[in-house]
Amino acid sequence: MKVSEARAAVGGLSEPSKMPCYSFGISADHCKTGSKLAKIKGSICNTCYAQKGAYKWTPTKNAHERRINLIGTSNWVDNMVRAINNADYFRWFDSGDLQSDEMLADIVRVALATPSTKHWLPTHENFIVSRYLRKHGKFPSNLTVRVSAAMVDGEPPKRFALTSTVHHLGKPIGRECPSSKQGNKCADCRACWNPRIKNISYKYH
Ligand code: SF4
Repeated sequence: MKVSEARAAVGGLSEPSKMPCYSFGISADHCKTGSKLAKIKGSICNTCYAQKGAYKWTPTKNAHERRINLIGTSNWVDNMVRAINNADYFRWFDSGDLQSDEMLADIVRVALATPSTKHWLPTHENFIVSRYLRKHGKFPSNLTVRVSAAMVDGEPPKRFALTSTVHHLGKPIGRECPSSKQGNKCADCRACWNPRIKNISYKYH
């Protein structure tokens, strides 16, 4: 199968302008934990960037819908592997989040089948990640799963080795994301993919 055909078979990949790589995004409307957090003032999801701007444009919404309808279908893992095409980096969920334990297991299969690709998966789905780790102990070394804090200026979630936070009035915890000082681009930073960096702190915007 051609790479272009595999990408079409998973509903297409997204290309966030900030990132050095392709991403797989679905609508933030489908976030299980994030939709509850979004109703809480002061939570990170209350001012979700993926509920604004280009994420609300019709072509983006159509792509999100195509992708979510194809998750878990036969060949989804094989098609994602081909779609990623051994890229150096890949991001999961520039928009949206894990939908189920089965989806996380499928993403692990994709990571195992793409050993030369570094994957980064940010998530608010603590319980899905906990259940996976209880059963399997760890993620593949090329899959960096970062569990996100719930609240702006909140502490990193305690039970997880790799996390992320958002700072506003407080100080950044751990490594501060430099994107706000470099035109909202990752440029040559790859900290989010780096499992040696325990917590990344993003500036609130
Ligand atoms: S910490 Fe680095 S890799 Fe992560 S979003 Fe910020 S600039 Fe990009």
